Amino acid sequence: MSGKITTQVLVVGGGPGGYVAAIRAGQLGLDTTLVEADRLGGTCLIRGCIPSKALIHVASRFAGLQQLSVAPHAGIALKSEPDFDLPAAIQWKDGIVDKLSTGVAGLLKKAKVRVVHGTAKFADAKTCTVQTGDAPVEITAEHVILATGSVAAGLPQLPWGDGVISSTEALSLPALPKRLVVVGAGYIGLELGIAFAKLGVEVRFVEALDRMLPSYDRALVRPVEQWLKKRGIEVLLNTKAQDVARANGGLRVTVQTGDAAPQDLACDTLLVAVGRRPNTQGWGLEHMALTMDGAFVKVDAQCRTAMHNVWAIGDLVGEPMLAHKASAQGEMVAEIIAGKRRSFDPVAIPAVCFTEPEIVAVGLSPDEAKAQGIETVTGQFPFAANGRALTMDAGGDGGFVRVTARADNHLVLGIHAVGAHVSDLSGEFAHALEMGARLEDIAHTIHVHPTLTEAVPEAALGALGHALHI
Ligand code: FAD
Ligand code: NAD
Repeated sequence: MSGKITTQVLVVGGGPGGYVAAIRAGQLGLDTTLVEADRLGGTCLIRGCIPSKALIHVASRFAGLQQLSVAPHAGIALKSEPDFDLPAAIQWKDGIVDKLSTGVAGLLKKAKVRVVHGTAKFADAKTCTVQTGDAPVEITAEHVILATGSVAAGLPQLPWGDGVISSTEALSLPALPKRLVVVGAGYIGLELGIAFAKLGVEVRFVEALDRMLPSYDRALVRPVEQWLKKRGIEVLLNTKAQDVARANGGLRVTVQTGDAAPQDLACDTLLVAVGRRPNTQGWGLEHMALTMDGAFVKVDAQCRTAMHNVWAIGDLVGEPMLAHKASAQGEMVAEIIAGKRRSFDPVAIPAVCFTEPEIVAVGLSPDEAKAQGIETVTGQFPFAANGRALTMDAGGDGGFVRVTARADNHLVLGIHAVGAHVSDLSGEFAHALEMGARLEDIAHTIHVHPTLTEAVPEAALGALGHALHI
């Protein structure tokens, strides 16, 4: 492709923000062009959400079989240890990624979106040049939607390369390391670190704060802490990595806990997962006269930037850096450009951490509500008392559902859960909050028996003071 393109809507970035914006704009009849420098699907599909969840699934299955080979359970015994073939697992994971990326291309085509492969570089706010394989393409647009996403934030003292990796490399390792040190016990560190531990890797975590997963309240994180403790997996809190050096064919990471003397940790691979930063460099953002909000592009409640008809969405515009937030903003911006009245004002953006066990947070925790001066009632129901959880061996990990509501009118402010398979309850939680549910609405909604979902009305009944099964 070469020459000039004039388009109504130019979307830069084909991640869950950008590709959803482009599909919706195309569906609404807007002449739409999407530029993507890499593969369609963005961080989430190519090197984030999907490949990590595939690896987590494989690791859990392997660990389950491994456990059966050591200790027969529920009538199942394995006579020998299962084998694990990492390249084959990665090939399987890549097959899923390929399928979904091809699917995105098909959806864009169906919506009549023009896709240009290459890196967009802006000379001014509405004009960009894309260096494609053939020749440069100049694109002029009425509206520009910036969806360039984010990149892994490294640490200067732990330069990438030579065994120091980000999540991208962690998802495509040629072989399992024997010993892995993970710097950062947040989303990525814990999700991937736990998966590697299940695959038999000796994992240690180094976390700068006094607790892991700081974005979730302590009660929710406790079952994960217990899972790690039970397996002897060390989490060094209040600890910072200071240096890394090659030693004896591996790595030596120097860390310091509080004011204690620095100590060295030996490992083969060092995963640095200390957060992500918006992708704002190298594509001409500075020529677009936008206002920034710290490292992020500043937007209003409709994702408008400071420049007329330039919009920005997803990881580029701030926390939470989650795929479903990016997609929701993308869909909204396309509709606003097409003349619909929309704004980004969700009651809550649900979040799930795919640890062992999983954690779901939707809306306010009791402490967050208290900090806002709201008097609350809460109800908590343990999966240990849920029949379905027990039939799935999911009742013994300290999991629960907790419902938080206003004390005065019982409006539900937050629903949180921790436990096996709870990620799939997140939709119910978000729906309840978005629909303005009261405790009585949840308590009186008939939930199927036996399912994990029964813990939700039980928690609501608990908040009303009369749980049935506890
Ligand atoms: P991105 O997905 O980052 O997409 C941006 C796209 O823009 C990229 O494809 C990039 O190549 C392209 N691009 C950038 N600059 C240019 C340019 N100048 N020209 C052309 N193209 C350009 N979120 C969840 O909600 N759930 C999860 O389970 C989850 N797991 C994750 C696991 C990992 C390991 C990681 C790293 C992230 C995970 N995330 C998860 C976060 C999620 O991936 C991001 O929030 C999401 O991808 C953001 O979408 P986006 O569209 O804003 O940007
Ligand atoms: P994070 O913010 O979740 O966690 C980073 C952790 O690193 C924090 O606990 C922080 O205290 C710690 N840290 C920071 N600097 C440190 C240092 N110098 N030494 C030791 N520890 C340090 O970031 P992440 O895990 O890199 O993930 C990035 C983002 O990707 C997440 O915030 C999230 O938005 C997204 N993500 C989401 C999911 C999901 O939705 N399930 C999964 C993976 C990633």
